[in-house]
Amino acid sequence: MPRVRFAPSPTGYLHVGSARTFIFNWLYARHNNGTMILRIDDTDLERNTEQSLQSIFEGLKWLGLDWDEQYRQSERLDRHQALAESIFEKGLAYRDFTPASSDSTVGWLFNPGQREISREESDRRAAAGEPFVLRFRVPRDTPETVRFTDAVYGEQAKLAADIEDFALLRSTGGPTYHLASCADDVDLNISHIIRGQDHLTNTFKHVLIFQAADFTPPQFAHLPLLVAPDGAKLSKRKHGPVVSVTTYRDAGFLPHAFINFISLLGWSPKDDRERLTRAEMIEVFSFEGINRSNAVINFTEESPFDAKSVWLNSDHIRTMSATDLATELKPIVEAAGFSSERLGLITPLIQERIRLLNDVLIVGDFFFNAELAPYETTELVPKKGDLAMAKKALEAALLALESAEFAHDPLEAALRGAAETVGIKAGQLFEPVRVAVCGRKTAPPLFGTLEALGRDVCLARIHQALAKL
Ligand code: GLU
Repeated sequence: MPRVRFAPSPTGYLHVGSARTFIFNWLYARHNNGTMILRIDDTDLERNTEQSLQSIFEGLKWLGLDWDEQYRQSERLDRHQALAESIFEKGLAYRDFTPASSDSTVGWLFNPGQREISREESDRRAAAGEPFVLRFRVPRDTPETVRFTDAVYGEQAKLAADIEDFALLRSTGGPTYHLASCADDVDLNISHIIRGQDHLTNTFKHVLIFQAADFTPPQFAHLPLLVAPDGAKLSKRKHGPVVSVTTYRDAGFLPHAFINFISLLGWSPKDDRERLTRAEMIEVFSFEGINRSNAVINFTEESPFDAKSVWLNSDHIRTMSATDLATELKPIVEAAGFSSERLGLITPLIQERIRLLNDVLIVGDFFFNAELAPYETTELVPKKGDLAMAKKALEAALLALESAEFAHDPLEAALRGAAETVGIKAGQLFEPVRVAVCGRKTAPPLFGTLEALGRDVCLARIHQALAKL
């Protein structure tokens, strides 16, 4: 059974790329009855924030993504230390006492001589309190090649001579990312590492650590980069809120539609289907569907969301049950200060017109606002008619609606009857009524709309329209 992990560093909000990494791990785990682990990489005390951790949880909660086990790296420092010690004891790491190398990015090339310090001297200097960085002793004598197979990028090989003696412990004694990550992967018995392609080159170092820990390296699957339309790697600094998951939530994406969109960034099912339910994604997910080229999110300054994401969202909205949709719309309507009491009636009428959940307030404005948006009197004029006809139609409608039963079929019958009585076509009566109650010509189906608005509102609005005439 696979054991996979999503390992965010809590140094910012949940980025769409991180969400995708979670989703791919999760799909793989759920497809294979495996275990999904959330590992919080919080060893970088200077950059971690509690707020960031909360925003990661908030994003995952919104997406309805779950996990089976959870760990914090900061609670496992003794395990990282233990692995560092065992590697050192095997002679596979050495202490580097050069002051400059307390910066863990300084490579072995810059501190010749440190590798060769005898164990005796090294112990003596450490015992005397001299600060050091613990470095991995990358094999140099033999023309060794470090290899691994990536499920996405294929066979990977690098000459050991091209890998620097990277740090395992910083001069502060704290673990580097490479050490902490591998120590936890070993302890948690991770079978597959699925993460961003930006970690591909780190993997050579990780393979060396796994070997030093006598652990069979997990299988790797690196995911293509997410990039902006100009090809630049997505970043908050450069691209703003479009890279944050909560931006999608706040704009009215369905969690599931967002997951669907994100999963298609760099992956596609065999049959190239685009709209997939959660269960369908789990069923068809496999590494073979992941491609190597960067995945572009097509946003512009005018429209911050990729057209495909909006299309997928409206498609999921269109095909979900009106009851479920009403549940999603309720908090939005209430947050805007309106009553959600009639949402059950309203939702099926506007379902087809909503692309993002927040559209409910635009396409359904006349249901919620007591006052209609102002409209021109001329809009009340039906096709091939005039103001006099509009007046005649509204007066007849008013009379009919005063006594009609407020349900779809009786309303239709009443208005058709009214048109006949005054001798105009039914359509010529419906048009001014629609404008009178909705404030515009393009609106949801009329009889359902009248029903949802209720008698009092309809009569009042028709009176107002007549007053304009
Ligand atoms: N904390 C690392 C990151 O956010 C984890 C990388 C990994 O999956 O090993 O990039």
